[in-house]
Amino acid sequence: MGKINVLSDNIANKIAAGEVVERPASVVKEMVENSLDAGSTDIAVEVRNGGKDLIRIIDNGVGMSYEDALLSLERHATSKIKSIDDLETITTFGFRGEALPSIASVSHFELITQQKDELEGTRIRCEGGTIKDVERIGSAVGTRISISNLFYNVPARRKFLKSSATELDHIIKYITWSALAYPYVSFKLMSNDRAIIEARKCNTIMERIYALYGKEFAGNIVESKQDFDIIRTHTFIGKSGFTKTNRDYQLFFLNNRPIRSNLLGSAIGSTFRDILPKGRHSVVIMFLEINPTMVDVNVHPAKLEVRFRDERVVYNEVMRCLSLMMQDQKYIPEINMPAVENFESSEKEQSIPTTVQKPRDIKIESSVSRFMDRQKPNLTGRDYQRQFIPKDINPSTTDERVERQIISQERYIESLKKTESEFDNIQIRTRLFDTYIVAEAFDEVLFIDQHIADERVIYEKLRKQMESQNIPSQGLLLPITVELSASKAELIDVIIEKLSSIGFDLEPFGGRTIIVRAMPSLIQRGDTKQIINDVIDQITDSYDNLDPLKLQDEILITTACRSAIQAGDKISDLEAANLIKELFNTEQPYMCPHGRPIIVKMKKSEMDEKFQRK
Ligand code: ADP
Ligand code: MG
Repeated sequence: MGKINVLSDNIANKIAAGEVVERPASVVKEMVENSLDAGSTDIAVEVRNGGKDLIRIIDNGVGMSYEDALLSLERHATSKIKSIDDLETITTFGFRGEALPSIASVSHFELITQQKDELEGTRIRCEGGTIKDVERIGSAVGTRISISNLFYNVPARRKFLKSSATELDHIIKYITWSALAYPYVSFKLMSNDRAIIEARKCNTIMERIYALYGKEFAGNIVESKQDFDIIRTHTFIGKSGFTKTNRDYQLFFLNNRPIRSNLLGSAIGSTFRDILPKGRHSVVIMFLEINPTMVDVNVHPAKLEVRFRDERVVYNEVMRCLSLMMQDQKYIPEINMPAVENFESSEKEQSIPTTVQKPRDIKIESSVSRFMDRQKPNLTGRDYQRQFIPKDINPSTTDERVERQIISQERYIESLKKTESEFDNIQIRTRLFDTYIVAEAFDEVLFIDQHIADERVIYEKLRKQMESQNIPSQGLLLPITVELSASKAELIDVIIEKLSSIGFDLEPFGGRTIIVRAMPSLIQRGDTKQIINDVIDQITDSYDNLDPLKLQDEILITTACRSAIQAGDKISDLEAANLIKELFNTEQPYMCPHGRPIIVKMKKSEMDEKFQRK
């Protein structure tokens, strides 16, 4: 250990940088917040290679005097608070005076700033926190800060940066987020000389949402302002049926500042839990206003997490706000039953019906994300048995429901082998809940999940077609256009390549729109646009973390899942028969690609036992 040393400012700054600056997006965040604090109405951000090489922020705020510019690079220099009492009612983003010196200590840094009514501005250049050069120069009113080679002198941190695309994605998400809160400020983001976000000044948040997320998105949300005891809310939620595969579109602002909050996240979760299908997430953009003394923002250096003084009340009021909006929207799951005649007539047909029933939007069991659960490794063998085969249920328990009467693990695996060769002897008996096909095979009953079975069938067919590089596609009568969000548009080439590789025919259609002219012939059901959107989400969510083959596979699974017969779909007897036949022709009729069981069985002898025949 030895003697105690007082750390030099430079070292202290680098340590602070570790807390404040995690990645290029955090630099953008700190700088944009400073620009907003300085009253800017025009903020332009320019980055190169996801901000790793360059981040430049140009604003038209109040600027700094020569003295202040120099001071701004000193640790704990802030113009925003003077005493501890100011903390209680702080309305600016910054107040620690840490960002500029920290960022300057881990980059090549240039600050040019000029105040209104001044003839000259100031330029300061720093390297690794050391001021190299101070000059008076003429410039525009406002501040322009350029940060190059972030973390050049902290190789350990530089190494941890993700790909440029991922870093850029974080920047896009952040700018989108703050642009939502400041419709009257114009935001522009350029990446490698390409305009990614161009949000001109506007008057309302709804207009801003339109500019950032596009027409379709804006047309599918509703807005409401409400007053509660301690919070006031201005909320946008997706209309019934407009849902997303992830929580990217659940954004909170507290007194107009983007925040993260597990508390509020779980309020959304509880409100929508029983209404949305598994794997779908609601769109909720919520601005909360609360008396600043009721919040502690001084929790985390990056200040995204907040702590409410009265969590319970806030939670309840947010839930009430969402529930009221949901009621207004008739937010109930839609189940459109097809006409019964349809069902009977197809029964009489001799061959497989060529026309498939109109796709229906059933949202009870569509479960993309349950399949996509990355926490859950692909299980095999023993693991599989442990995890997925339902536990032996004590036959003497009298009040078990039928579907829970399931055989033991070994017998299950044993019986699987048998059934395979005995497919010819399987007789479909009935269907339950428009979800399970019940079949009889020799001495046992099979319960087959129609959705998972169809998913397996389509998945294997798609995979085989892909392996033989021959995916038949069918043209769409009306081409479908899909409008991408700014962050997804960044990956447009990847999206097009991946979708083409599984049989979609599509191309860019100007701006952030792509046009889809044909799709894989195997897709016979489901809402095509929804399928495409889900696959796009899949690609943009995972392409950075998954190896290309795995991603390819996940895309096939998503496509199969979304275009499969869903739980709740009424299918004809013939379709059921065909499905069962195809299922037993697959390589793995018992498990879905992510390991859910497709078939659950019960032996006749077990039933006999239940009825005390023996
Ligand atoms: P903080 O924001 O916590 O005060 P920073 O290190 O981010 O600390 O900034 C230090 C000071 O530099 C600010 O208090 C502000 O006075 C000044 N400053 C920083 N960026 C700008 C800007 N874009 N325009 C005007 N002044 C700025
Ligand atoms: Mg600041």
